[in-house]
Amino acid sequence: MENCLFCRIARGEIPSRKVYEDDRVIAFHDINPARPVHLLIIPKRHIVSLQTVSADDEPALGRLLAVAGRLAEENGSPDGFRVIINNGRIGGQEVPHLHAHVVGGPEPVGPMLERN
Ligand code: AMP
Ligand code: ZN
Repeated sequence: MENCLFCRIARGEIPSRKVYEDDRVIAFHDINPARPVHLLIIPKRHIVSLQTVSADDEPALGRLLAVAGRLAEENGSPDGFRVIINNGRIGGQEVPHLHAHVVGGPEPVGPMLERN
């Protein structure tokens, strides 16, 4: 995807504060952190969201979840963390390249959602 923001970050065309990279995923600090630790883990291949995954995407999605705990620990959230994946309009997704937010820090992240 030529002009996708996160594809461009994955290709190194746009700078990021990268904390991890392997053959399937890359992780970097969110540019506008919501908690002391706020990483984004993205698949290198362009996947729009969990609305559009195929069987071919499963290795990247598995890797994305498999590295989250280690990255949280290494980056300042050793006692737990939260993973958030926003999907589509209802999910409030802003960047249409699948990404997992890894949020944490020294204090609890807080309630998951306000109940309506
Ligand atoms: P979402 O609303 O789930 O699509 O989240 C998009 C996230 O991407 C937000 O938390 C933004 O702060 C973050 N973001 C946008 N542009 C960049 C960038 N160039 N580098 C790092 N994070 C970014
Ligand atoms: Zn992309």
